[in-house]
Amino acid sequence: MIKNARLKRQTYWEVQILVENQLHGSIFSSFHKLIPNFTIMEDVIILGTGCAGLTAAIYTGRAQLNPLVLEGSQPGGQLTTTSEVENFPGFPEGIDGFMMMDNLRKQAARFGARYEHAKVDKIEVEGGVKKLYAGDKVFETKTVIVATGARPRLLGIPGESEMYGGKGVTTCATCDGAFYRDMDVVVVGGGDSAAEEALFLTRFCSKVTLIHRRDELRASQIMADRATSHEKIEMAWNAAPSEILADEKGFTRAVMVKDTLTGEEREIPCKGVFIAIGHIPNTDFVEGMLERDGDGYIVPEAGSQVKTKYKGFYAAGDCVDHVYRQAITAAGMGCQAAIEAERWLAEHE
Ligand code: NAP
Repeated sequence: MIKNARLKRQTYWEVQILVENQLHGSIFSSFHKLIPNFTIMEDVIILGTGCAGLTAAIYTGRAQLNPLVLEGSQPGGQLTTTSEVENFPGFPEGIDGFMMMDNLRKQAARFGARYEHAKVDKIEVEGGVKKLYAGDKVFETKTVIVATGARPRLLGIPGESEMYGGKGVTTCATCDGAFYRDMDVVVVGGGDSAAEEALFLTRFCSKVTLIHRRDELRASQIMADRATSHEKIEMAWNAAPSEILADEKGFTRAVMVKDTLTGEEREIPCKGVFIAIGHIPNTDFVEGMLERDGDGYIVPEAGSQVKTKYKGFYAAGDCVDHVYRQAITAAGMGCQAAIEAERWLAEHE
């Protein structure tokens, strides 16, 4: 039933996006037919429609900058894959992740944000102008806000995609942990995220099994000590998940793990599987032009969370932030980037 409701909303959103894109696309192509090589110089282009991108769109829209928002393959970002958001301020009863992103989208549209589907492959900066290449489309803008987010790394094992987002497989304990009150769950991973997620889940769950493929955690000593000494956390060392098993209704009932030393397989019964094996920031298209750390996150200029080495070029949200990764922190960064863009435009008009 949850899945059906999600599918209906997904379809509704996709139709809405399609209509908007057709409208914008047809206006755009009409100009192209009349004047070849026609490009509009935008004030602000925002890449991404997660919390950071849409918050930037609300702020720049409200500042009457008429932002153009380019959305890629996952409109609405990571929150559209979660069930209920209970920790975003302002919603005492919580809010469905999908609905929250749809609300943000409409809120930005109310202030003049325009949406177009385009996956940017390359950006060039020429003087004050930023040129964005997306397939055969070229956009020009005075300021750009990159808010392309990150995607959780997944295991790629049978059962994972089938039960992801509502049937027991998730990548966010902060978002979904409370739904597993008094249940047994597992966390997969050995880094700080896995340790942190496991510790967080002990607040709700009866037992948390931390599954790690080696015999020592990668997490910092303090986090590792906390996790391994917690009475509700049981360690499954040298264990590589090979399949997530479903009950007769299609919900998670266990994880099959393979002992990396002996090859032996066993089932770990659980209602929830929290995968915490790292994230992959969506930043490949800025390779070589912006500084990125070893994991691909954009490194902002010293003294700022959102400025890059190019003037009028900002980055916000999970493509920059590998520490907090929350909807509210991404929204905060989107707001910062929008205010910086607005100030920069005011100074350079
Ligand atoms: P991470 O440090 O890269 O750890 C990923 C973990 O997942 C590793 O233990 C790795 O195993 C395991 N893994 C990767 N691929 C796997 C696979 N296919 N199957 C099974 N296990 C797999 O990622 P993270 O924990 O998300 O942390 C990312 C960064 O954020 C780190 O710098 C971390 O310190 C930081 N962070 C900090 C905090 C904090 O300070 N409170 C909280 C969260 C994150 P191996 O160890 O065998 O490689």
